[in-house]
Amino acid sequence: MSNLNEKMVALGTQRSVIRELFEFGKMRAAEIGAENVFDFSIGNPSVPAPACVNETAQKILSEMDPVLLHGYTSAQGDAGVRAMLATSVNQRFGTDYKADHFYMSVGAAAALCCCLHGLCNAGDEVVIFAPYFPEYIVFAEGAGAKPVIVPADTEAFQIDFDAFSKALTPSTKAVIINSPNNPSGAVYSSETVRRLADILQERSKAYGHPIYLISDEPYREIVFSGTKVPFLPDYYANTLISYSWSKSLSLPGERMGYVLVPPCVDDWAQVYAAVAGAGRCLGYVNAPSLFQRVCAACADETSDISVYETNKNLLLGSLRDMGYHVTEPGGTFYMFPRSLEADDVAFAERAKAHNLLIVPGCGFGCPGHVRISYCVPTERIERSLPAFEALAKEYF
Ligand code: PLP
Repeated sequence: MSNLNEKMVALGTQRSVIRELFEFGKMRAAEIGAENVFDFSIGNPSVPAPACVNETAQKILSEMDPVLLHGYTSAQGDAGVRAMLATSVNQRFGTDYKADHFYMSVGAAAALCCCLHGLCNAGDEVVIFAPYFPEYIVFAEGAGAKPVIVPADTEAFQIDFDAFSKALTPSTKAVIINSPNNPSGAVYSSETVRRLADILQERSKAYGHPIYLISDEPYREIVFSGTKVPFLPDYYANTLISYSWSKSLSLPGERMGYVLVPPCVDDWAQVYAAVAGAGRCLGYVNAPSLFQRVCAACADETSDISVYETNKNLLLGSLRDMGYHVTEPGGTFYMFPRSLEADDVAFAERAKAHNLLIVPGCGFGCPGHVRISYCVPTERIERSLPAFEALAKEYF
């Protein structure tokens, strides 16, 4: 028996279901040809970053003093970069934020960890809505907190407010929301957000301490048909935003994002210090210099995300025609249909027999569903439709 941290050993040893599917896909591709495997498992953007990303990177590389460029930035990120972000956010949301409200991080993953480690003491509870990004559980537990799961509203994938009210206790320190949502694609309406804010306000008062809302927003820009994503600090003051360019600029490998602690947060200086202290403790300081600068310069751009809406329309219409029950996504590049049998793992296994790689919902805390990541070339969706149909025919 080693004397290592067994929890970490376990985390490092277990392969996620998504990784398993990915490996299976590679094996099948070698057997039957990549064009015959319909891999909808991973949320890796399928469109390239916009031209401004490479252009800006090249310009910086050729024009900027290399000692400065490749040197450490401030722990919380370059001040000029953060000022540019403040300007961009202020223009979009009518706010008056400053550079010092931002903390640069390596993607949303690190941003979330900085928030959770900064806010939580051992034993605090963090409320998470199903269906959820599975790493929330890992991040909350890693911060010493106890994840408390609110079961999904499986009709509209908004919030089951009765279940939410029951989940809140005097130990609740934070609530994580993710809209547009991975895996359902749902976008919370302004009514949902208003009700959420009212309950949080009421309970913060009743418990005598703030309940923080952590709004995880890596899909903020990826919305369809003009769907509006409410800006959370307008509704609830004690909001921290976790943002990332992994999806909007198609840069998941560059690991760039930020935490925004808006000035309306109670005891702002303490909360920002806690986020920065968590960054220090976790080693998430000085996010990569080149891509801090690139992302700040391209913050008002996105990659050509129109293909995701094309894919959503094609897949949604086709699946519904075949008899699948699917809630229409308002954004992201995921859809979360009901599995055609109660056991979503068994259903995803059956799908594999048709070379369809889709992820069981139980890993997202929402059994009875499967996640389809449609950030793929449209022609892969077209070619996969007979496989979805053959799968449906096994049940109808
Ligand atoms: N939050 C959600 C909801 C996600 O879907 C992801 C990645 O897929 C992340 C956070 C992590 O994003 P990043 O790659 O920026 O760390």
